Amino acid sequence: MLTPIRATIDTAALRHNLRRVRELAPGARVMAVVKANAYGHGLEAVVRVLADADGVAVARLDEGLALRAAGCSNRILLLEGAFDAGQLAAAIGANLDLMVHSHEQLRMLEQRAEGGQARLWLKVDTGMNRLGFRPEEFADAHARLVRIPGIDPDLVLASHFASAEDRADPKTAAQVSIFDAVTADAAGARSIANSAGVLAWPAARRGWVRPGLMLYGMSPFADGTGADFGLRAVMGFETRVIAVRTVLAGETVGYGGTWRADRDSQVAVVAAGYGDGYPRSARSGTPVIVAGRRAPLVGRVSMDMLTVDVTDLGPVSAGEPVELWGGMLAVEEVARWAGTIPYDLTCAVRSRVPHEYR
Ligand SMILES: *Cc1c(COP(=O)(O)O)cnc(C)c1O
Repeated sequence: MLTPIRATIDTAALRHNLRRVRELAPGARVMAVVKANAYGHGLEAVVRVLADADGVAVARLDEGLALRAAGCSNRILLLEGAFDAGQLAAAIGANLDLMVHSHEQLRMLEQRAEGGQARLWLKVDTGMNRLGFRPEEFADAHARLVRIPGIDPDLVLASHFASAEDRADPKTAAQVSIFDAVTADAAGARSIANSAGVLAWPAARRGWVRPGLMLYGMSPFADGTGADFGLRAVMGFETRVIAVRTVLAGETVGYGGTWRADRDSQVAVVAAGYGDGYPRSARSGTPVIVAGRRAPLVGRVSMDMLTVDVTDLGPVSAGEPVELWGGMLAVEEVARWAGTIPYDLTCAVRSRVPHEYR
């Protein structure tokens, strides 16, 4: 054992979750979102497992080119499109699909010297106010785009939700209405739904769905977990206890002495810290699975270690297995304790943590 910490990736769970997407959005093509190293799960390995997705989406050119270099022959969509003319040429040369969301990108396409057919997704901003043409700009952008020589006429019209993870927020239905009104007269497939759209907004399941989080078994909603939707956790973040010590009543543990024992306690020191991607913001009380049972994190998370009160577990010794999140403890729950979202946790797993695919 070189290092006790590892991220185990359950490839059967990944395949299962892709099947769940297809069950929830029957007939839709699935653009599996694998940006940010497949949400920390490993870009190339995940794409090999998801080979029968209809396409994979990344944020940036280098991710798309890395996939092509690794032999990926799926459609690959650059969600943010090309950032300059050089990127545009490289992306089209590598047969990548491009999002077109700005006047600058439109001009780059109009001024492009010939070479390769460009497969494009045209983005409408229906209320996110991040990327995309405003509703009143859509008709003009669309007309200019379809006139450009070398454009695949099979455009996909796309938008992105700002608040779909809040099932009570009226903004999502409003975004769908704006999208439908703006695109009513344009030909082409539609694509709006991220994971929350697939799970909670049936009206958003159009020709292409773009799930990310749910493929990895996680739920985007503030309550519950992916299991509520028949999804299976893909990542297990696992390590071991490296020491167990007695802390007397009244003594504190760790940097800043933020946790004080109110009884004589057994504290397990675990080989995982923020240097591995475990969130430093995890509060005392955050659950950790030690030897198969839950116990509370105590004190501050250090760079390479964290401490767990195992007094109530009975005897625990160095070498016992620890699960930080995974099949026994949902990453969504850890994220709530850490004041963040599950996306943030799996993406943050550092490169020093070996990934094991099972
Ligand atoms: C990241 C992203 C998605 C996937 O979102 P999830 O919430 O992870 O399903 C879909 N579309 C766009 C444009 C994105 O940036």
